[in-house]
Amino acid sequence: HPPHHKRMNYKINVCVRKRPLNKKETKNKETDVVTRSGEILYVHQPMTKVDLTKYLENLAFRFDYVFDLDDDNRKVYEYTAKPLVESIFKGTRATCFAYGQTGSGKTHTMGGEFSGKNQNCANGIYAFAAEDVFKKLRQPVYSHLQLTVSFFEIYANKVFDLLNNSQRLRILEDKQGKIRTVGLVDQVVNTVDDVISVLREGSRCRTSGQTSANSNSSRSHAVFQLSLVAPGRKTHEDRTHGMFSLIDLAGNERGADTMSSDRITRQEGADINKSLLALKECIRAMGKDALHVPFRGSTLTKVLRDSFIGEDSKTCMIATLSPGFSSCENTINTLRYLTSISYV
Ligand code: ADP
Ligand code: MG
Repeated sequence: HPPHHKRMNYKINVCVRKRPLNKKETKNKETDVVTRSGEILYVHQPMTKVDLTKYLENLAFRFDYVFDLDDDNRKVYEYTAKPLVESIFKGTRATCFAYGQTGSGKTHTMGGEFSGKNQNCANGIYAFAAEDVFKKLRQPVYSHLQLTVSFFEIYANKVFDLLNNSQRLRILEDKQGKIRTVGLVDQVVNTVDDVISVLREGSRCRTSGQTSANSNSSRSHAVFQLSLVAPGRKTHEDRTHGMFSLIDLAGNERGADTMSSDRITRQEGADINKSLLALKECIRAMGKDALHVPFRGSTLTKVLRDSFIGEDSKTCMIATLSPGFSSCENTINTLRYLTSISYV
């Protein structure tokens, strides 16, 4: 059974997906250090001791669900984001994160690959979620609602609108204490194809920088939001019925950044690290006293604040792992982070 059937009042559902060894890892004869047994994941951590004697230390982590290597994006969607689509029709906020090191499959899972040979935009979580929203919108009870989407990225704690030439946006707290991203483009969409062309436009805008760690490192958080709106209503509060935020987080690997002599890269790493720590604190505080959600810690948590404080807000996190020996340290860091937010 999908994990959400087991835990009725969960706030966060944490699932793990490992990608297959890639060509480079296979060529370098890397071994797969991550194995699974049910919901438990084992990492075989190589330890170098005196005299170059290498032996393995097993670390075990438990999650809501651990996917198999041959589970596709459709299955990942059904076990993570799909139940959250249902929940936004009850007027609540939902959030789905892809979390992991660069190259582990975050963008692949979300369906944000719009260049290169692996373009899979129609077969990822973004498209599947939109498809299910449209299905529900066809029911007569929801005939007063329509779907709008927005797509922005957070880079160096600044917000850039991916649907408006990376226009820089400000975040304000209005008189009612609601968080506003001023001027964010909200595009009306009527079909999955509309959604895909919006995503394509946005992905073209996405910032990425060259780093020593990876030649195509994602240094920004990409936030794609599906909003149910009732266009006839006067105020923003009345208009927005429910919202689903799907977030392709910046790569969580930081080791190489701290050694970098490049000031920008080091600063980028520090910003990302800080925002992921703030995210962890907010998730841990989720559904508790709104006054004590430490959302001010980063721009990412600020824009998501209203998703953390809602009584019925739900979140899922899809952690992606690279299987190789060379990613061991990042893999363990990823799993430790997840352990600290599981079972909220
Ligand atoms: P990230 O967004 O985490 O940096 P990507 O999604 O770009 O990583 O994935 C890196 C590469 O691995 C891409 O070429 C992608 O197509 C491939 N890949 C990722 N996950 C899988 C998977 N589950 N199955 C097959 N290929 C994958
Ligand atoms: Mg990516």
